[in-house]
Amino acid sequence: MLQGRVIQWEAEKTSLQRMLVRTCLASEGQAAELDLLLNELRKDLRKDSLDLVKWRTLQDQIDRQIALLDEPAVASSAALSTPVSSPISAAPPQPAAAAGDDNDLGNNQQRLRIARRVGQLLGQLLQQVTLEPGADAEARQLQQSLLKSEDWEELREGLNRVAELVIAAVTRGQRDFEAFLKRLDERLQSLRQHFQDQSSAQAGRLDASVELDREIQQELAQIGHQVQSSHELAGLKQSVTRHLQSIGGAVRRFREQESEREKNLSHQLEAMQEKLAAVEANSEKMQERIREERARALIDLLTQLPNREAWQERLAFEYNRWQRYRHPLTIAVLDIDLFKRVNDSYGHIAGDRVLQLVARELRDRLRNTDFIARFGGEEFVLLLPETPCAAAEGVLNEMRGHIAQLPFHFRGEPVTVTFSAGVAEFGDGDTEEAVFDRADRALYAAKDGGRNQVRLASARG
Ligand code: GH3
Ligand code: MG
Ligand code: MG
Repeated sequence: MLQGRVIQWEAEKTSLQRMLVRTCLASEGQAAELDLLLNELRKDLRKDSLDLVKWRTLQDQIDRQIALLDEPAVASSAALSTPVSSPISAAPPQPAAAAGDDNDLGNNQQRLRIARRVGQLLGQLLQQVTLEPGADAEARQLQQSLLKSEDWEELREGLNRVAELVIAAVTRGQRDFEAFLKRLDERLQSLRQHFQDQSSAQAGRLDASVELDREIQQELAQIGHQVQSSHELAGLKQSVTRHLQSIGGAVRRFREQESEREKNLSHQLEAMQEKLAAVEANSEKMQERIREERARALIDLLTQLPNREAWQERLAFEYNRWQRYRHPLTIAVLDIDLFKRVNDSYGHIAGDRVLQLVARELRDRLRNTDFIARFGGEEFVLLLPETPCAAAEGVLNEMRGHIAQLPFHFRGEPVTVTFSAGVAEFGDGDTEEAVFDRADRALYAAKDGGRNQVRLASARG
C-alpha cells in the first residue's frame, strides 16, 4: 500500500517536474535576468534530489523578476488612475465569489500585493512633489510601513493618508506655481514698462533697444517652451528663474549702456552749449557790427547827418503813415546859395566847414519828430510831419534867417551864407516822387526869384 503511494507520488513528481520545465520554457524571452533564473531552475528540476534552501532563494529571485515584469504595465495604468483626486476607497476589491479559506487567503495576498504596488507608486509620487517638512517625514515613515505591512486595514489607512498628502502637496504646488507665475508676470510687466519708457526716448537708443527686445523675446520664448514641455514644477521654476536672471542681466547691461550713452550725451551737450554760447556771443558781436555798419551806411560822413539812403527809408515810412492817417506832411528841399563861390574863394576845406556848420545849425533847430538829411553836395532835404506847408514855410524862413546871420569868417573876412528852399505838402493822390518834384521846382523858383528865400510849391498839376 505504502509502496504503491510512493510510486504514485514519484510519478506525480516526475509529471510536475516536466510541467515545470515546459512552463519555464514557455516563460522564456521576457527578460534576460529571468531567463537565467529559469534555466537554473530547469537544471535543478532534472536532478534527482532538490536543494530546498537554494530553491527558496531561487524562488524569491524569480518572484522579484516577475514583479519587475509587472511593473511597467501596473505603473502606467496606476499612473492614469492614481488616487490623487479620489482617495482609495474604504472597501478593498472583493472577489466575485468568495468561497473557502484558500480563496480568502489568495484574495488577501492579492490585495496586499496590489496595495504594496500602489504604495510604491504613491511613494514615487511623493518623491516628485514638494512636501512641508513635517509631512515629508510622515510620508517617509508611511512608505516604509506600507512596504512592510501584512495587514490590509493598516495598508488601507496608510494608502489613504499618502493619497491625502499627495493631494495636499499637489494643491500646494499649484498654489505655489500660480503665485510664482503671478510674480513672473509682474516682473515681466515691469520689464516691459521699463523697456517702453526707455524705447520712447532718443532715436540713438534704437539699436540697443532692439537688441534688448530680441534678448527678452528669446528668453520669453524659451520660458514658454519650457512651461509647455515641462512636467516637473521644481525644474520648471529653476529654468524660469534662470531665464529671468538672464533677462535681468540683459536689462542691466542695457541700463549700463544707457547710462554710459547719457554721460557721453551730457558731455556732448555741455560742449555744444559752450559752443552755442560762443556762437551767440559772436553772433551778437556780428549783429552789433552790422548795426554799426548799417548806421554808418546811413550817415553822411562829412556832416554826420542822415544821408540820401536814410532819407529814402524815412520818406517811405512817413509816406505810409500819411497814407493811413492823412495828417499833414511836408517836404522841404534846401540848397546853399552860390556855394561854388565859397569853394572857389576859400577852398574846399572851407567849403566843407561851411557844410558842417550849416548842417549842425539846421539839425539843432528842428523838432525831434522832424527829419533832415544831406541829399548830396550842398543840398539838404527836410521831412516835417504834422506840419502843413504854411507852417513849414515859417520854420524854414526862421532857419534861413538864422543861417544868414551866422558870423562866418574866412581869411579874416566876414562871409554870409544863405540858402534857398522849396516847400511842398502831400495831398490826395500824391506819390513821394511827385511831392519831391514839386518841392524841387519851388526851390528852383526861389533861386530864380533871387535866392535866400523860401517858396511854396504851386498847387499840384
Ligand atoms: P546855386 O545858388 O545856383 O546853387 O549856386 P551854386 O554855386 O551853389 O551851385 P552849383 O551847383 O553850381 O555848385 C555847387 C557846388 O557845391 C559845386 C561843388 O563844388 C560844391 N560842393 C558840392 N559838394 C561839396 C562838398 O562836399 N564839399 C565842398 N567843399 N564843396 C561841395
Ligand atoms: Mg546845388
Ligand atoms: Mg547851391
